[in-house]
Amino acid sequence: MENIKSFTLKELKELVENLNWPEYSAYQIFQWLWQKKVNDFSLMSNLSKLKREYLKNNYIITELKIIGNKKAKDGTEKFLFELYDNNKVETVFIPEEKRKTVCVSSQIGCPLKCLFCNSGKISFKRNLYFYEICDQILMIEKKLNIKPTNIVFMGIGEPLLNLEEVLKAIQVITSPIGFGISARKITISTAGIVEGIYRLAEIKKKVKLAISLNATKDEIREYLMPINKKYPISEILKACEYYWQKKRERITFEYVLIRDINDSEEDAYSLSRILKKIPCKINLIPFNSFPSISFQPPSLKRIEKFMKILVEANYTVTLRKSHGQEILAGCGQLAYQNY
Ligand code: SF4
Repeated sequence: MENIKSFTLKELKELVENLNWPEYSAYQIFQWLWQKKVNDFSLMSNLSKLKREYLKNNYIITELKIIGNKKAKDGTEKFLFELYDNNKVETVFIPEEKRKTVCVSSQIGCPLKCLFCNSGKISFKRNLYFYEICDQILMIEKKLNIKPTNIVFMGIGEPLLNLEEVLKAIQVITSPIGFGISARKITISTAGIVEGIYRLAEIKKKVKLAISLNATKDEIREYLMPINKKYPISEILKACEYYWQKKRERITFEYVLIRDINDSEEDAYSLSRILKKIPCKINLIPFNSFPSISFQPPSLKRIEKFMKILVEANYTVTLRKSHGQEILAGCGQLAYQNY
């Protein structure tokens, strides 16, 4: 039987139309699934008994199964979920004073194999469907009894390589009868899939774009991120300029600082030069170590120097405080390990 969650609102409308049900039945079903989070047709009390029976006899409602869960001292919690086909997906919940962020995965494994990222070590299996992305948020809401304020596509996978499903997920996340989270509270982080950036520039929703840049010279970026061979820095920056022209939304450039690889003063000056034409914010992320890699974060002094150069060049710079490092839930650490 088909999973009713695999229907977008538009598809639910088509479904009820074919059944000669009124259109509002589609809204009711959607709301029960994503806002009220029920997993049983019999609880959909504003649908007639006959309709509930029909749905029950023809469709199923799936949920992710929590098979691992670990909490760090700072409250960050990571979850390992099992999907219907036994694949696994990992999601992180980050509670902060003013924000409750869910960091979702968009693929099973990641095909991009960035050297500084543990997720790149897991072999890529498939893209996640939109409802599997939404179910990560739903399960965390249910399990922790919280209402997330922010959603970041920064878990395992490259969201712009799964853009159709990510966009469908965004519809559910932003819908007032779905999760009801504003598009401005959603960040999509990409390794720089140029076509995806152009496509995102055309959508109406004002989601935030973050580019994982990490180097200012192609040879270093190629070493850290092999995808740079296909999408060199100049092409990514051109796409970002276009994005800015279309959306007038500041882009965030993420820069993972790795000792003796990309953390020199020259790198900082070069970064300030290449981003000049793009209104942006720079997010520095000291490398989070994980087993099987010898990279190290720079010393605090070096990080401060790097930051100072950018601040003096008038950039807004943030130093990302990593969450849940000791449980391998920090940036670039996810790899279905340590449960
Ligand atoms: S940094 Fe992102 S794109 Fe690169 S391997 Fe990790 S998950 Fe994939």
